[in-house]
Amino acid sequence: MEGTHYFEDIPITKQQVLNCAYGSWYPRYKKITPKSHIISSLPQSFIEYILQDGIKMPPEFFVDYILEDASEYSDWEQSDDEQSVVTPEARKHKQQQRRSVEDPTKNFSEIHEQIKSLIQKNGPMLPKLNWSAPKDAAWILPNHSLKCSSASEVYLLLNASSYIVHDLSQSLDECSDIDVANLKKEHKGLKFDLILKEWFDINPAWEFRCFVRDRRIVAVSQRDPNYYDYLHKMKESIKDKLFDFFDIHLKRTFQSETFVFDVYLPDKSEKVWLIDINPFSRTTDSLLYSWHEILNLDLSNYDEDDFDMRLVNEFSTARFASKEHSENYVPKDMIDAAMDTEKMIELMKAYQQQQLSDSS
Ligand code: ATP
Ligand code: MG
Repeated sequence: MEGTHYFEDIPITKQQVLNCAYGSWYPRYKKITPKSHIISSLPQSFIEYILQDGIKMPPEFFVDYILEDASEYSDWEQSDDEQSVVTPEARKHKQQQRRSVEDPTKNFSEIHEQIKSLIQKNGPMLPKLNWSAPKDAAWILPNHSLKCSSASEVYLLLNASSYIVHDLSQSLDECSDIDVANLKKEHKGLKFDLILKEWFDINPAWEFRCFVRDRRIVAVSQRDPNYYDYLHKMKESIKDKLFDFFDIHLKRTFQSETFVFDVYLPDKSEKVWLIDINPFSRTTDSLLYSWHEILNLDLSNYDEDDFDMRLVNEFSTARFASKEHSENYVPKDMIDAAMDTEKMIELMKAYQQQQLSDSS
């Protein structure tokens, strides 16, 4: 039943969605947000690269990942027979051939250099576009996270994620002020940014999602699907912190009256960090609530500075865990391959071989 009419009372507008784009709010909330870098107005060539079928990686990827010794190159693509007749000339020829593999970054070389230099200077990054991180693609990296230590890893994640495709082609779908017939045109008019968030190790227990309606927090949900007994003991103090943070930093300054913000409360620190701002719409995961519940909360029982808050309890983990990325399941054998770095490297080798034969 969820889905069709619950949002009629508070329809989301294009402007509200745009207000939630990272590049739109980050400059204002820089001091309360972990350090991020924004590569603005991505060129069409970069967008096309992300949207294309298959994953084409720059030649350096194969050096970073597969070839231990870049100057020598391994013999993985040769059969035993071939190896026995490899002459220095033949090896040189092979090396030249490898160098001729088409470099997909040549159409956006400036951005490629920017990504490389940001990672080099500032360390690993978590990439995202205007609204979404490629959370559904973490399985593709050897560390199974969104922590990228090279531009190649950024490209792998962006290319493999359905959330990223959604940002690029469906981010305005829920807007009540856009006629369906104009949706495509409206999407074409959007500007996209690549956000590189400096990586830090988060304790997921301390991540919360806060639902704001008419400039008032109405509900807060734990973000991680696991049960942490200590959170229950600290519920009231967490609520106080969240209310103060909202009251001081966001309540009067965010451009929309109704939105959803995510925060992180690091252990043993008074500081609250803003992690993200999301549209108040069904495209945002309602976590421990259903959207129907959020929209129908009776606030008459709450003081002005109070709101509903849900934490995972000992018995509610299963329902929550099954929701995570459920629309983005990948075939199990692919996950098995990705869990096994050796297998993934084999896949990548096969892929490079394909590229070589395509280019010869
Ligand atoms: P959602 O779809 O739930 O709104 P999102 O796509 O907007 O998520 P973020 O909220 O930006 O993605 O980040 C996803 C997760 O990545 C966060 O819940 C947090 O655990 C982790 N994360 C976010 N920023 C960082 C960072 N700078 N370093 C390490 N991990 C991070
Ligand atoms: Mg978000």
